[in-house]
Amino acid sequence: MDSPIPDYLEQILSNVWDDTDGEVADYIPELAETDPSYLGAALCTTTGHLYSTGDCTVPFSIQSISKPFVYALALEEYGLDKVREIVGMEPSGEAFNELSLNRYDNRPVNPMINAGAIAVTQLINGVDSSVEDRVECIRAYFSQMAGRELRIVESVCESELGSTDRNYSLAHMLRNYDIISDEAHDAVATYVNQCAIEVTTEDLAVMAATLANGGKQPVTREKILSTQVCRQTLAVMSSAGMYDGAGRWMAAVGIPAKSGVSGGLIGCLPGQLGVATYSPRLNEEGNSVRGVRAFELLSNDMGLHLMSTEDRYNVHSIRNVEDTADATVIHLQGVLNFNAAESILYQLADYEWDRRRVVLDVSRVTETNRMGWKMMKEGLRRLREAGKDIAVVDPDDNLTNRTLSDGTEVPVRDEDPAEN
Ligand code: GLN
Repeated sequence: MDSPIPDYLEQILSNVWDDTDGEVADYIPELAETDPSYLGAALCTTTGHLYSTGDCTVPFSIQSISKPFVYALALEEYGLDKVREIVGMEPSGEAFNELSLNRYDNRPVNPMINAGAIAVTQLINGVDSSVEDRVECIRAYFSQMAGRELRIVESVCESELGSTDRNYSLAHMLRNYDIISDEAHDAVATYVNQCAIEVTTEDLAVMAATLANGGKQPVTREKILSTQVCRQTLAVMSSAGMYDGAGRWMAAVGIPAKSGVSGGLIGCLPGQLGVATYSPRLNEEGNSVRGVRAFELLSNDMGLHLMSTEDRYNVHSIRNVEDTADATVIHLQGVLNFNAAESILYQLADYEWDRRRVVLDVSRVTETNRMGWKMMKEGLRRLREAGKDIAVVDPDDNLTNRTLSDGTEVPVRDEDPAEN
């Protein structure tokens, strides 16, 4: 059976195909000469399945989509406190090349605009790194994220360097405020190289899925970034990834995202998937016109909006409660997070316990988070305090920590309690 997902993506693209609004970026010939009709989309799940359609293997320079990835690398190398010393995390509400500096300490307001990205880039590979080594470090890391060797398009670099006075001025200002110590020309050279790394829509979907997957590349299974770094990066993308269109984007699409001047666009749905589109014509904010529309359609149709209360399915966490000869057995199912634990404990609060033993069967629990399990353990401890013998059934050893708040352990009961 062929998967219907590429056909679905194609349908989404066919809905936006006719839209010729917007202009291709024309500040360098490499972008000005791009075929404006290119249209591609790709989706990569956090389980590592990649689906794509249209011009999804056409190469283009990554441009500003490099920014969240380099920010993540800096966070990985230095930690949030150090990175926060040189760049903030507030949306600027201004264009990408605006000199948006915090009025109190002159730090760029966020890493998704050029000033912030130039500052962050200077951290990579150590502050004393040469431009060459720093660029190579970024290229190698982007390759790990994409799962294949990526290259830098020299002609894009050269053209950019010839028309990047505004970025030079940003770098000079950053030097003036001691945010960077590199020469302004070196700082911009690194940044321009990072923007000139060549990717396809498919690469971007996989890279986005790596951020959505807490830093583990879903195809190669390589752990590249920590989950905390990814959370921080996605948070900043959600408020600042779409420049001055960021607020409207979050309202209409509701997915942390980043756009680039070559027409690429990525979205990361935490824990689920990475999506990328490519269409070179841009709106006034510098975001791909058809990319934005395709994302709006995808988000609404697939129920991806993070702020939506629709499509949030909660299974009943208690599968059933069974009284066996000597025990009351509570069979749980699904995900055991705080919400699930709350509902279980709420239901059990009024239960008439006829048996001396209470057994919690977690064999059908698919996922347990720290808070959910902590609450359940406390519920068990209170049952014991009330005079019950407590135990868990956990045939797959999913409960890594069975220590209760009083220091004792919940005993494990091996046999299938239903058969007693
Ligand atoms: N190279 C471009 C610049 O810095 C990238 C900008 C973008 O993609 N928005 O001007």
